[in-house]
Amino acid sequence: MSVGSNLSRRKFDVVIVGAGGSGMRASLQLSRAGLNVAVLSKVFPTRSHTVAAQGGIGASLGNMSEDNWHYHFYDTIKGSDWLGDQDAIEFMCREAPKVVYELEHFGMPFDRNADGSIYQRPFGGHTANYGEKPVQRACAAADRTGHAMLHTLYQQNVKSRTQFFVEWMALDLIRDADGDVVGVTALEMETGEVHILEAKTTLLATGGAGRIYAASTNAFINTGDGLGMAARANIPLQDMEFWQFHPTGVAGAGVLLTEGCRGEGAILRNVNGERFMERYAPTLKDLAPRDFVSRCMDQEIKEGRGCGPNKDYIQLDMTHLGGDTILKRLPSVFEIGHNFANVDITKEPIPVVPTIHYQMGGIPTNINGQVVAPKGDDYKSVVNGLYAVGECSCVSVHGANRLGTNSLLDLLVFGRAAGNHIVDAIKNAPRSHKELPKDAADLALSRLARLDGSTSGEYAQDVANDLRASMQKHAGVFRTQKMMDEGVVSIAAIRERVKGITLKDKSKVFNTARIEALEVENLIEAAQATIVSAAARRECRGAHTVNDYERGADDAEFPLGRNDREWMKHTLWDSATNSLSYKPVQLKPLTVESVPPKVRTF
Ligand SMILES: Cc1cc2nc3c(=O)[nH]c(=O)nc-3n(C[C@H](O)[C@H](O)[C@H](O)COP(=O)(O)OP(=O)(O)OC[C@H]3O[C@@H](n4cnc5c(N)ncnc54)[C@H](O)[C@@H]3O)c2cc1C
Repeated sequence: MSVGSNLSRRKFDVVIVGAGGSGMRASLQLSRAGLNVAVLSKVFPTRSHTVAAQGGIGASLGNMSEDNWHYHFYDTIKGSDWLGDQDAIEFMCREAPKVVYELEHFGMPFDRNADGSIYQRPFGGHTANYGEKPVQRACAAADRTGHAMLHTLYQQNVKSRTQFFVEWMALDLIRDADGDVVGVTALEMETGEVHILEAKTTLLATGGAGRIYAASTNAFINTGDGLGMAARANIPLQDMEFWQFHPTGVAGAGVLLTEGCRGEGAILRNVNGERFMERYAPTLKDLAPRDFVSRCMDQEIKEGRGCGPNKDYIQLDMTHLGGDTILKRLPSVFEIGHNFANVDITKEPIPVVPTIHYQMGGIPTNINGQVVAPKGDDYKSVVNGLYAVGECSCVSVHGANRLGTNSLLDLLVFGRAAGNHIVDAIKNAPRSHKELPKDAADLALSRLARLDGSTSGEYAQDVANDLRASMQKHAGVFRTQKMMDEGVVSIAAIRERVKGITLKDKSKVFNTARIEALEVENLIEAAQATIVSAAARRECRGAHTVNDYERGADDAEFPLGRNDREWMKHTLWDSATNSLSYKPVQLKPLTVESVPPKVRTF
């Protein structure tokens, strides 16, 4: 096979894979600067998972309570359990008000205060005066913030003439002999045809891989395709052991109830009706960060204070908020209660359990969105021609645990920053496209050829289900070393099964079975990166809590099991060489003083 074969070829300045908030914020910057931009998406742009974001976007506007970016910076570092890079966190928190006002000027329909300013609600882990009291920092459009944001960005992109390739699935990155990325291969889902898209710059914005777990708040399309593409192109994945469980997924259904519920005053109760979070987090109570609240819920259930016939869930009580507030501020939550739990949340509490929600790790980048991969000792070495933003990337602002509202913020800040950096690079040093390597499409074509040639084997769906069950079992809210070690073996065995997946229906037109089979090859990369990195990290930090390493808050050396001496470092899992390496956390911010590590209590 070679590029000379009869594949269609198109050329762009920039190809963006993903039309969620991050991809469309970047594309807007590029098409407004007059560059020729293609945005690929597996679904219509406004159906990307960003549309499901409910609660809000974090920015220290101080519209409703005293606030400034220093507080936001401090909260984010503490939330990250000191694994976040402080330069990137400073950049994000300083830029936050700017990108939110910009979004407002693009037409974002935020809720308003009486004086016309943007409405802001409290959210988990966001405080004033360095942890003293909750602050109102989440800029919200009812409980449909992501919906409003994604439509606003789409409209602006249409106005700026961004070219969308809808229902096109990117398959693999094309790297040349110098290691530079020169484009992608993609499958046009409607026809089954494979295309080569050449680009001076390629940007991955493919969102999260939440579908590696069985119970997830994530959309079905969140299969970690960007992670798979990076892994197959020999780019290591960073900090994949850190997965966020959201405290309030509807029990049994997985659908999310935003933290905005608790921001508006909802309370978690155990079987005795007790507001148990007062015991664990006297200051922030129900609004402590997510990793913390999820563990407390799990603890209550373990100790026999769960609700229901099997004592296996917690109640989220909003009845005291009143029907008017609920219908005004949380209209979607009201509908979800009705549709997914058969509960009228204005009259009775709703059953919830911690549910997988967000990946803190991803493709390593610097604050310009450029992908970095270690070259010898140089862990800041840039992969020419490749950027990543949004949930698929790891810059790292979320460290070991993300604060709610900081993801929508990171999409805007780093989508915009990457866009600006790409514009500068292309305009300051105009150049033509690099020549495509002869084997440009070989990797993608061989993956497809294997599926098309298969006559026996397992179905993609069955292998994917086993993968999800295994991840759920071996890498949950509470982990043990034994469970993770077993998980490494289990996922390695599933990886072998992925190689033998068969495709019964070989037709070309809208063959969703082929898409699913290709997605499983991405799921396995995300899952293996997660389980191997998790089993290697022998401490408790943020969302990674391992029973074997738990200690008390008063343990001077390892408070709460966190081992800063050995483990204040980022993990890099390299699928190509089957090996882990590490790089230091950036403790030095850009302009202010560093926030030194301390015990994380709330
Ligand atoms: C239910 C829910 C509620 C949330 N609420 C909040 C909130 O209130 N505040 C907050 O800050 N965060 C929230 N989050 C997190 C946040 O919404 C996500 O992290 C963020 O929206 C991800 O945006 P993204 O641009 O990275 O990717 P996404 O919005 O997930 O978009 C990914 C895009 O990539 C495309 N794609 C993927 N693979 C391919 C491929 N192979 N080829 C072509 N296209 C591809 C998809 O089609 C899609 O367009 C929430 C998340 C969930 C699940």
